[in-house]
Amino acid sequence: MPKGVILKGVGGFYSVLIDGEDEVVVCRLRGRLRLGERRVLPGDRVEVSLEDGEEGVVEEILPRHSEMIRPPVANVDQVVVVQSVAQPDPSPTLIDRLVVLAEDSHLGVILVFNKVDQGLTDEARRLVDIYWSIGYPVLLTSAKSKEGVEELTDALVGKISMLAGLSGVGKSSVINAILPGANLTTGSVSERLGRGRHTTRHVELLPLPKGGLLADTPGFSQLQLPEMERARLQELFIEFGKYAPQCRFSGCLHYKEPDCAVQEAVAQHHIAESRYANYVTLLEELIEYEENRY
Ligand code: GDP
Ligand code: ZN
Repeated sequence: MPKGVILKGVGGFYSVLIDGEDEVVVCRLRGRLRLGERRVLPGDRVEVSLEDGEEGVVEEILPRHSEMIRPPVANVDQVVVVQSVAQPDPSPTLIDRLVVLAEDSHLGVILVFNKVDQGLTDEARRLVDIYWSIGYPVLLTSAKSKEGVEELTDALVGKISMLAGLSGVGKSSVINAILPGANLTTGSVSERLGRGRHTTRHVELLPLPKGGLLADTPGFSQLQLPEMERARLQELFIEFGKYAPQCRFSGCLHYKEPDCAVQEAVAQHHIAESRYANYVTLLEELIEYEENRY
């Protein structure tokens, strides 16, 4: 039975991209799937039966390895955190919040600094260095001059990816640069009209020219940390792991404890100050949240 991936579902009709073919088949769900508890999402891998001259039928939904809630997409592999080098300025706080959310969901992370045609500020350069040293892939792009767009396209091959970042950084423009046929609305026109561009639309996965799928709707629109143990947060700041075993206390939160190897690494500039500061902000948020829960 042919397998494929759901690109979108609207009103009971699901567009399925059949594996190994360029063909998209519109399918209905087999009755028992319609009644099932599991909602079929874009990104779901499915088995379909195709009958000549008729629409296809989704017979089976294969297991998911991840599920994003907002927007609802299954099997996302990686999040592309998009910043612009200027207008709006890059925000280390926002970057770290998005990176933490992605790490918490076990998703890969790519950092994109867009609008490099406007030149790189010192602050942008500093941030590029920070994330590159940690080991995250960092790409400099311009949706306008197309610089870096090819590299980004290559980084999306074979994966389901989702962009995340503030409004205005150029997410729609980047998608249009990768995929001129996508025709996503860009700029502030719809914002001027006072309605969100993405509120009423269905999420759709866009097949990319070299393979891979990209969601047409940005992820992590809600930036609040999920509920988690305090001790888990440090695992999401992946460069801390190298130092944490040398802390005096085994359960060290690298916060107010003495003889903390992580804080020492910050003092020695092995860990970026902005990363540590954002860690503390998020940790305090978790602590406050925990204390107000009861
Ligand atoms: P989104 O809200 O993240 O989807 O951002 P948009 O794609 O709507 O872009 C916001 C504004 O930035 C628009 O006016 C775009 O024309 C502009 N923009 C996007 N990418 C670039 C770029 O690479 N260079 C420059 N100079 N402007 C860009
Ligand atoms: Zn410590």
